[in-house]
Amino acid sequence: MGKVYLVGAGPGDPALLTVKAVGLLERADIVFHDALVSAEVLRLIDARTEVIDVGKRCGQKLLTQEEINALLVSAAASHKMVVRLKGGDPLLFGRAGEELEALRDASVDYEIVPGISAAFGAAAAAGISLTDRRLASQVVFATFSRGTPSHTLDGCGITAATTLVLYMPHQAYEEVAKELLQGGLPGDLPCVIVSNATTPRQRIRWTTVSALSHQEKLPAPALLIVGRVAARNIEQLSARFWREQPIEQEARVPVA
Ligand code: SAH
Repeated sequence: MGKVYLVGAGPGDPALLTVKAVGLLERADIVFHDALVSAEVLRLIDARTEVIDVGKRCGQKLLTQEEINALLVSAAASHKMVVRLKGGDPLLFGRAGEELEALRDASVDYEIVPGISAAFGAAAAAGISLTDRRLASQVVFATFSRGTPSHTLDGCGITAATTLVLYMPHQAYEEVAKELLQGGLPGDLPCVIVSNATTPRQRIRWTTVSALSHQEKLPAPALLIVGRVAARNIEQLSARFWREQPIEQEARVPVA
């Protein structure tokens, strides 16, 4: 029986892989990777290693999750070192839970090698401190979930001191903006779109929640950083922005 390594491939730049990940890619007998793993990272895999793309492209599933789970289990029976390579960190929005369960059920030995999640690659690209102590005290990692009723912000408990990192916005900027506004975020709350963070194709757009709808659609993969920390110049952002607004309005209501 071999061992399966669930390895984080980071956001794109191969220099952001962990030393452990690079070592595993060089020594792996077989690598299963997602569509999101950059070509630059895949180039680090030894030319003699079997490489299988189990990713999904343009909404077209190449393999079902059950098939991927079964592949990992059977690969461990015939290979010593199996690498399951996932974009960013393997444990964040990567269906790792299902794969780990399948490995545990089949008594396959495994190890998880963390990676730099896209949120951190994007924050670094934009030069944003996700928890700037002047403006934010918590970070929420969420995904945009399509459909009605929408659930993107359900139970997130977003406040003026929250930085929201929204994975998988799918270029559906109008829908995303609508949901964020419906979720109670102010239209002029800053928002940054980061596409292909840490790669040569990196692009950054500074906008606001309501202006997001009119923005040029940046190529996938992209994510949104939403919150006061996403202001280009936080000095210009009034300390009273959002949280204090309703209080001020209330104060102006004449007492009957
Ligand atoms: N496990 C991954 C996330 C998988 S979900 C991680 O930890 O990063 C896939 C989503 O990640 C994409 O839809 C996009 O929102 C985001 N993403 C991945 N790589 C990215 C990159 N280089 N730049 C911007 N967003 C990225």
